Amino acid sequence: MGRHTDLIHRGERPAKTGSTALTTPIYETATFVFDSARDVERYQDGSFPAYLYSRYENPTLVAVEEKIAAVDGAEQSLVFSSGMAATSTAMFSLLKAGDEVVCASAIYGGTFHLIEHLLTHFGIERRFVSLEALATPASVIGPKTKLVWFETPINPTLRCVDIRAVAQACMAAGVLSGIDNTFASPINQQPLAMGIDLSMQSATKYLNGHSDVTGGVLSGTRAMLAPINKTRRLLGGVMDPLPAYALSRGLKTLPLRVARHNANAMAVAHALEGHASIERVYYPGLSSHPDHAIAAAQMSGFGGMVCVDVKGGQPGAYKAFDRLKIFQRAASLGGVESLCSLPVLTSQYGLTDAELEKAGVTRGMMRLSIGLEDPEDLIGDLVQALR
Ligand SMILES: *Cc1c(COP(=O)(O)O)cnc(C)c1O
Repeated sequence: MGRHTDLIHRGERPAKTGSTALTTPIYETATFVFDSARDVERYQDGSFPAYLYSRYENPTLVAVEEKIAAVDGAEQSLVFSSGMAATSTAMFSLLKAGDEVVCASAIYGGTFHLIEHLLTHFGIERRFVSLEALATPASVIGPKTKLVWFETPINPTLRCVDIRAVAQACMAAGVLSGIDNTFASPINQQPLAMGIDLSMQSATKYLNGHSDVTGGVLSGTRAMLAPINKTRRLLGGVMDPLPAYALSRGLKTLPLRVARHNANAMAVAHALEGHASIERVYYPGLSSHPDHAIAAAQMSGFGGMVCVDVKGGQPGAYKAFDRLKIFQRAASLGGVESLCSLPVLTSQYGLTDAELEKAGVTRGMMRLSIGLEDPEDLIGDLVQALR
């Protein structure tokens, strides 16, 4: 063999096959090798369980999808290159021209822009509904409604929507229900068990948990995901094997991490409630939260996100934000490290006072993603920043 041929072909398959790797290898391959035309034919007719091409299927992705399906209580899960790839692939798959998607107006910004500015190019109609309207979900479903989409808890106010009520209204009307379960994670909230058809999450957040992967997932029944799987092949927003491996490793500690996020967030929320420089604390685990009863009925833990109104409005919040030492000034959430962001500079940037009020967002708001550090260090950092 010539040198070029050797460099390309040598060593590509394991020489010893008498034992197997403990963890799923990273199948960083674009395609898969067959022995014969007959095998390819059998793959195509479904009688030969093989892989063909990594945009369709890849063993590292299948491994992580099995873990996510288990934790979501789903028949099947699909992973995507981002949370937005998951949401957009679902919507392009489930909706056609003339259909209406009903969406909570308090929703992730990317989801709002997707529905408002992109799906409309394809004749898909939309109606954004308030939390008050969503509290009587049968009233938001119209004759053209195909899908109801919402999230709970909601960014950044952590207001909650009654998941069972939405699921029941959708089921009764023969309409699909989809939830963005990113903030809660499946450890704290199991929407599929409450009757929701499709559960989406940004894997960038709690699922991976280490702020080093961008990814998304959809979970549901096999029948629900079959057309979405076909659309994933066409739109191509599939995850790569390397981040799938990292996500798979992160998932192994998800229950441990979320338990600690819950405990740390509760400790921070209690410590800040009544603090002289804090106007208000938003945490669904506090009895002062307007949706505490809904949260308690559908969540087994209240999550790692805490929001506060700093006294002194925007200047007060800026001052505290700039003085933080352990909390990192960064967008995103759900990682081991605590982060702080100002909604007026991120998710609600550029909104007028009236629009802010409608979203329940104040200019003095700080959003905290509580990490896994020692809780007394986190509380100490906030107290010194607010001094
Ligand atoms: C981050 C986030 C998304 C989008 O996920 P990406 O992985 O950034 O595409 C969607 N919904 C919520 C609630 C999020 O926090």
